[in-house]
Amino acid sequence: MATVEELGVKQRVQWCPGCGNMGVLAALKGALAELGLNRHETVIVSGIGCSGKMPHYLGTYGFESLHGRSLPVASAIKLANTGLTVIAEGGDGDGYGIGVQHFVHIMRRNYDLTYIVHDNQVYGLTTGQAAPTALLGMKTKTTPWGVVETPFNPISTAINGGATYVARGFAGDIPHLKELIKGAITHKGFALVDVLQPCVTFNYLNTYQWFQERVYKLEAAGHDPKDRAAAMEKAMEDSKSDYKKVPIGLFYKEERPTYEETLPQIKDTPLVKHDISNVDISTAYEDLE
Ligand code: SF4
Repeated sequence: MATVEELGVKQRVQWCPGCGNMGVLAALKGALAELGLNRHETVIVSGIGCSGKMPHYLGTYGFESLHGRSLPVASAIKLANTGLTVIAEGGDGDGYGIGVQHFVHIMRRNYDLTYIVHDNQVYGLTTGQAAPTALLGMKTKTTPWGVVETPFNPISTAINGGATYVARGFAGDIPHLKELIKGAITHKGFALVDVLQPCVTFNYLNTYQWFQERVYKLEAAGHDPKDRAAAMEKAMEDSKSDYKKVPIGLFYKEERPTYEETLPQIKDTPLVKHDISNVDISTAYEDLE
């Protein structure tokens, strides 16, 4: 078991002062410490982007993968050793743009993974181009006259796509976000935590104040996360209200067998614990010759 202090590293955090990524890091550290997880049994896998630095700042195992590829790497780690707690993370450009094909297929398989998305509506590391969740009309370097595409809706996509825990937090409310992440990690199945994460350097529209004026908590509003139809309704509420109301909290949760549990080869014994001392692969390719 590791404390919050033990989960830190000596490396200086390189994010811009005030970046919402700081809130995500604090919430994740708090969640790992409160769940009493061992550092050597926890793996953080990132893609590329500002959020991709997260494994550098945590004293767990970590893997910084390619752009949009945190989910395939995380699922491979989980398949190899189902005993590990595996947390994938990345930005909205990384996961909802470049890696969206992995997002869709991993959800329907229901791997037992947590996926935290730093959703700041821009590609921050490459200096602020519009990302898939950028709002209509938002001006960026790549959209000088404003975004004309309908924003990607990760919450409705996840509910519809087979994710079994679908939540959204706000980097400006660390205690609330920490509880959502704890729920995601302890959930058996694919858990999405989309995090509204202000990019203070390149997103001048979706600021801390912008979110604080709009977010409200689903649990305080009496939402039942087992009600799929109600969850879909809430998932659409931000766009339907022209972003006057932005719900955060747990939208949807269901119990379904995980991918790993349905594979006979690994459902009882993790792959890394298989005895391969007597396996003969010398004839494995004979049928193909
Ligand atoms: Fe954070 Fe934006 Fe700076 Fe990246 S560019 S570290 S997302 S504030």
